[in-house]
Amino acid sequence: LESCEDVASHLQRGIRELPSTKALDRLLVEGKGGTLRVQSDKPVVVILGSGWAAHSIMKVIDTDSFEVCVVSPRNHFLFTPMLPSTAVGTIEFRSLLEPVRVANPFVDYFEASCDKIDLEGKVVYCTSKNCYEDGFRPEFQIPYDILVVAVGEQPATFGIPGVEEHCYFMKEIPDSVGLRQRIQQQFELAALPGTKETDMRRALHFVVVGGGPTGVEFAGTLSDFLREDLKKKYPELMPYVRVSLLNATPSILVQFDEKMRQHALDNFKRLDVDVRNDTPVVEVTKDIIRLGSGEELPYGVCVWSAGNAPRPLVKQLAAQIPEQAQYQPGGRPSKLAVDSYLRVIGVDDVVALGDASLYVPERLPATAQVAGQQGAYVAHLINRGFSLGAGGMEQPPPSKRVKDLTLTDRMHEMLAATMAPADDATAKDIVYYNRAFEFFNYGVLAYLGDDKALTQIELPGTSIRLTGALGNLIYKSVYITKQVSFRNRVLILFDWLKAQVFGRDLSNY
Ligand code: FAD
Repeated sequence: LESCEDVASHLQRGIRELPSTKALDRLLVEGKGGTLRVQSDKPVVVILGSGWAAHSIMKVIDTDSFEVCVVSPRNHFLFTPMLPSTAVGTIEFRSLLEPVRVANPFVDYFEASCDKIDLEGKVVYCTSKNCYEDGFRPEFQIPYDILVVAVGEQPATFGIPGVEEHCYFMKEIPDSVGLRQRIQQQFELAALPGTKETDMRRALHFVVVGGGPTGVEFAGTLSDFLREDLKKKYPELMPYVRVSLLNATPSILVQFDEKMRQHALDNFKRLDVDVRNDTPVVEVTKDIIRLGSGEELPYGVCVWSAGNAPRPLVKQLAAQIPEQAQYQPGGRPSKLAVDSYLRVIGVDDVVALGDASLYVPERLPATAQVAGQQGAYVAHLINRGFSLGAGGMEQPPPSKRVKDLTLTDRMHEMLAATMAPADDATAKDIVYYNRAFEFFNYGVLAYLGDDKALTQIELPGTSIRLTGALGNLIYKSVYITKQVSFRNRVLILFDWLKAQVFGRDLSNY
């Protein structure tokens, strides 16, 4: 009560920043002199991010036992694998999203970015994404008991001049919104009376940089849009349209085997998508893409999907922890090295997952699959009362519930098998106790356009490889079942149906 009154008097006097004192440890301040909420004595778990890893934790974490605060500048989860389809209107933006407040109404969500982490004081410093009309942007701090860093990565430009200014990325919904508008605008520009042929060719040259699944899928979906919708509305412009896929390495889709890559190349040849391997881009100006060979490509729209780079927060955090230095490539902080329990090496009570983390025991791909599984794993660790302690390779996280630290997995299983059904919860705790994270690779998928896809599914002891229309059927079935809610499943099915029956939307708003 004493501290509440203190805070209230600060606010009455218009002081926007509150001193972080011990008495305020469980108080959060929202907004401009806004509501004060006294937190309970439950341990506070702060989750940074609302992507695949964070969403998966939110779905599993026990909010009865923990006070869970989510901080992310994005107030929703995004089903990234289908983002390229939104840029051409096959799928509507909202069909791929789930707001954090819907994903788990029992977490506290703050639309803000974390800018700094005080590892000793166990406090995160955040800045609101939004500001008031007078320009005031609230800043606040949250003390944590356990911190989950799941901030992902950002598109990598590799310092190539002009990429940031002139290219479209394919990472978030606003990227896709901008790209969708730009594609429409290019057609309307080229359709104006008196447009010179060279200008038409330039405006309608769509270039995708990056031969990974995202670049390939976008090239495929764009070619569908051109063939199935734009061709009907702008038939006179079709001779000037061109799609190029530029890839700096010798092959596209390195995640797939040789035969499937060849299948992708053959499909693109049929669809008139010009795939150019070993073609690095060295500069992008407002109307020219300059290649390593010196060649200059006039272009209308360039989509940059050439890889990811660490976020500043992750670099800053990795640089603060001396034990991280040996894991950073070339000594440059990039990802947070984590041990087999996903604890950040060299620091207490911080876990990192998904694209922001480097799993030291084994090389894992930076994919949604990994991030989602890591999120669920960490939520189970937290729910079972593990104190996540300091990250280091050897020690398993000590549990508050299970005292015996020396049992092997086999012993846990035997013990669990002999336990009475009434003790089931404890038995489960014992069975799972001490288990390091294990990634189950279910395979990879990529849409190629013209209702064809590559599907490489890994099952225990076997792997299934499908291409063409059958591959596409599996691709669609997997993505429908993988949606995070029934609502999204229904919306996507309707979107597919709408696009088939009425075509994709061509309005430019
Ligand atoms: P993200 O999902 O990127 O989430 C990061 C979160 O952190 C976001 O909510 C962000 O707003 C938030 N954040 C950022 N900075 C801060 C900060 N300072 N403070 C607080 N929060 C912050 N993977 C597959 O397995 N299969 C696919 O088919 C596939 N296709 C893809 C297609 C596209 C277009 C893209 C972009 C990615 C695709 N991926 C795919 C990769 C997959 O999306 C990523 O590996 C996955 O999103 C990583 O999850 P994450 O939780 O680590 O990060």
